[in-house]
Amino acid sequence: MSVLDLARPEIRAMQPYSSARMEASGGQVFLNANESAWPPVGDDGLGCNRYPEPQPAALVEALATLYGVRREQLLVGRGSDEAIDLLVRAFCRAGEDAILIQPPTFGMYAVCARIQNAGVSEVALQADFTLDVDTILAAVTPAVKLVFICTPNNPTGQLVPRASVEQLAQALADRALLVVDEAYVEFTDAGEASVADLIDRYDNLAVLRTLSKAWALAGARIGTLLANAEVIALLKRIMPPYPLPLPCVEAALIALSGWGQVNARNHVAIVRNQRARMQEALRQLPGVREVLPSQANFLAVRFVDAAAVYQQLLGAGIVVRDVRRYPNLGDALRITIGTPDENDRVLNELKKAAMSSRGVTGKPASGEYA
Ligand SMILES: *Cc1c(COP(=O)(O)O)cnc(C)c1O
Repeated sequence: MSVLDLARPEIRAMQPYSSARMEASGGQVFLNANESAWPPVGDDGLGCNRYPEPQPAALVEALATLYGVRREQLLVGRGSDEAIDLLVRAFCRAGEDAILIQPPTFGMYAVCARIQNAGVSEVALQADFTLDVDTILAAVTPAVKLVFICTPNNPTGQLVPRASVEQLAQALADRALLVVDEAYVEFTDAGEASVADLIDRYDNLAVLRTLSKAWALAGARIGTLLANAEVIALLKRIMPPYPLPLPCVEAALIALSGWGQVNARNHVAIVRNQRARMQEALRQLPGVREVLPSQANFLAVRFVDAAAVYQQLLGAGIVVRDVRRYPNLGDALRITIGTPDENDRVLNELKKAAMSSRGVTGKPASGEYA
């Protein structure tokens, strides 16, 4: 059985759009795509009057090297968000198939499934936010075509052990595609904790990587799917013809250059240090119940009165993420690690609140935060 047998038959059968850029080979005078013959003002040699390469060769090459895969095992798109959407469209028949997720987790998996009218099966993470492989496997019905794993998980920060990923990939062979979202993997203490090397061993394993977090390019929207070459080829059939804007590709190539890599690694090291410092400092504060251990560039923090803390920080101009709507996080806020100065501001604000609260119980006096 091929992993493609899990995909929608109508997608496998369809004739993809063939763009002018794809059909062209060689030539010096391009009169095949109804583009403007003149670059726009301020173009500066970029060539934005031309449609971009569907999968820019230089970027594909740089990413394949970075992630340690072959070019045909890699698809670049507009953020991991696009890859998630393409996977759901290619594998889930509307009204019939489903994805499986483990809440509390990243919201886009379920959003993409709902847009496609695919079902969303949920297996909650355990109380300590680790995942239980056996419970997940027991929940994989024939309708489930995609199982999403987020590691480190957003919004809790835990890493899924490599052994669990392997166990799942193995057990799901011929049943479902396992999609491992590694948006924050660069921030883990272990250094490179990616499971990308396993895609050669399991044809039903796919890995999501992004330049949005550690590579500081959230604004350029560059995400990558690493998977079996047949899965990548299938997704290329349904991807819009010219997904990657030239200026974004340019920004990504600079970020991935030698000095771009040095710069990114420096910032990741700062984030790791600051994460340890914030974790420690926050734990000392009276209004804090718990700081969840995190391997990402954020901390999920439980407060005695999370709503009040949120408002207090907002009043000081500091915006954090209210994650109280997530299961088991009803008292939590998610705080991204910022610059050392920004982190100081968070701590100072929270100390102020603690000092003005009554006693040492951690319970703020009523109205204190408002
Ligand atoms: C931020 C994030 C992403 C990145 O999405 P992009 O579309 O690449 O910006 C993916 N997955 C998770 C879990 C995230 O938190």
